[in-house]
Amino acid sequence: MSLLRSWHFLLRFAYLALVASAINACFAIIKPIVENLIYRSSLLASEPVRHLPIPVDRVQSRHLRDTWHASRSNGRKHEGIDIFAARGTPVRSTTEGVISRIGTNRLGGNVVWVIGPGGHRHYYAHLDQFANVRAGERISAGALLGFVGNTGNAKTTPPHLHYGIYTYAGAINPFPFLLARTAPDAVRHVAP
Ligand SMILES: [Zn+2]
Repeated sequence: MSLLRSWHFLLRFAYLALVASAINACFAIIKPIVENLIYRSSLLASEPVRHLPIPVDRVQSRHLRDTWHASRSNGRKHEGIDIFAARGTPVRSTTEGVISRIGTNRLGGNVVWVIGPGGHRHYYAHLDQFANVRAGERISAGALLGFVGNTGNAKTTPPHLHYGIYTYAGAINPFPFLLARTAPDAVRHVAP
């Protein structure tokens, strides 16, 4: 009788342990998903960053040229800034955020999209190669995204990063943000 009892106790213990580990496993799977969702919504709710580091290593602000809305093929206007540098120069995220897409398109070649503070979407194009990053990954400002190249419609130009910033209302000019030591509004008075 007592043997049966302890056998029963053991079975019960094993069952509880199994349930506990199953719950634990569920949490382990769900936790990063929930954390990512919370982070994404906090990103959307936060203020967009008003001054940004230059996303290409060893490029200084005096090397930047404002080519916002310059004419491009097929009547398009330039919706970003071209930052020229040697092929293979590291390209880094200007903000923290989540990598929303890594892929290839006709104009941009190898591109990376990052959703940053304020829900702004940051576009890094013409990359020679991607860094070791994946879509859905949470990154901090300065995270390595890839390397300068001339893929896409930049294949006839010297290697450069095309950098764009898109708000809900459309593209905005990254140039004043990259120059900014203070808020872009204050910088606009001294920028050419
Ligand atoms: Zn461009």
